[in-house]
Amino acid sequence: MLCLQDMNDPANSTFVLCGYVMDAPSWGLLRGWEDGAVAVQDGKILAAGPRHEIATMVQDWPERAWRRAPQGERWLVLPGLIDVHAHVPQYPVVGRVETALLPWLKRHIFPTEQAFIAERPVIREELDAFFQEVAAQGTTTAMLYGAVWQDSTDLAFAAAERSGLRVLLGKVMMDVDSYGHGSHWPPARTWEVSLTESRELITTWHGRDRGRLEYVVSPRFAVTCSRELMAGAAALAADSGCAVQTHLSENLAEIDYVRTLFPEAFSYTDVYRRAGLLGPRSVFGHAVHLTPDELDLMAASGSTVAHCPTSNFFLNSGLCPLDQLRQAGIRVGLGSDVAGGPELNLWQVMRSAIETQKARRFHDSSLPELTPAQALHLATAGGADVTGQGGITGSLTPGLEADLALFDLNAVLPMQGRFTTPEAAPETIAVLMVYRGGPQALRGAWVRGRRVDAGRKP
Ligand SMILES: [Zn+2]
Repeated sequence: MLCLQDMNDPANSTFVLCGYVMDAPSWGLLRGWEDGAVAVQDGKILAAGPRHEIATMVQDWPERAWRRAPQGERWLVLPGLIDVHAHVPQYPVVGRVETALLPWLKRHIFPTEQAFIAERPVIREELDAFFQEVAAQGTTTAMLYGAVWQDSTDLAFAAAERSGLRVLLGKVMMDVDSYGHGSHWPPARTWEVSLTESRELITTWHGRDRGRLEYVVSPRFAVTCSRELMAGAAALAADSGCAVQTHLSENLAEIDYVRTLFPEAFSYTDVYRRAGLLGPRSVFGHAVHLTPDELDLMAASGSTVAHCPTSNFFLNSGLCPLDQLRQAGIRVGLGSDVAGGPELNLWQVMRSAIETQKARRFHDSSLPELTPAQALHLATAGGADVTGQGGITGSLTPGLEADLALFDLNAVLPMQGRFTTPEAAPETIAVLMVYRGGPQALRGAWVRGRRVDAGRKP
């Protein structure tokens, strides 16, 4: 017999959520149960499926373990969404328009990140608010960049720990032509300072709370990193077992510039190969303009891509050829890339990924579409695969940790669903969410069965 605590206790991690239950555990597979339920036991998914089957399975659980939609709401239970690329200090400056990546970085982003220091008067409140907004999207896992500073990254980790979210985070590393070339550091040794600080942050934070927090070794991109820094970052990741994240082939001017900086390399991807940064735990943001040789390098090394379509539109970077990445066998997740992307809402990122692929098809109708079901897969199980957490989160498969997002379908229907009923097929529910979903419809988010969205009560 289970010993259940008071179900109103937000720390309690054993319960049943009822509603339309849906997940996309593999590419092309969308599962949905209209009258469904998800049983969570001690923070793990015990079962998901038709409500009557779940009821039989947990018949000795008390009635108060069951959570059902109140009058006027129609619940949709999903695995928590996974954002594989965003920048914490940039969130306050979303929507600063510029013609392209490099001028945008110089004019808006570097000054903002440079000021993101621990002495900033409201930095703790800002960080808590950031993670609350992440959770308010139904995002339960986020892979993030901090600023270059160790102290504010330390505070960001502390805020991530408080938030209850699953967070992979690293301080940005850079030592060339950037704010990372700090005047209080001997310029020639900046890369060593960056490695030392990253190592200290790994010691403090990597693996915290049974792996809920992970450090990510985060060289910004080849434009702002010396060869020494990139090679050191690769060695640090190998030593520590940490993932790597960086940016790759986002913008044509950037690619030209990298070519001048690294004349010995065959391509932008080859710059990272030479540094030892390719590998199955490396996540490359954007990858919009890869050549066939670069696709081969990425695939052969098991490297993964954070597809950031809202950002690619916002900064005029281009149409990422998702079909080519997938055809090459490269694993892909979705990233909001705040503040290159204007918002944290992953439904908008899914929509943008679909529309990117539609735009590619206007030029070549033989290319495949990206369906809403496939987009949902990228934003859940695909993201978990990219962050190295495929056996932990990303779907409603029994045994995974109970990272869940609960939405009210009535809140995305016209006129609050008073005059409409969604069609029952999971594909149509996925379309509805992709085109109209967002934080206004969120009714709960859980990591390991614990609430992470402050102040909301289903
Ligand atoms: Zn980015």
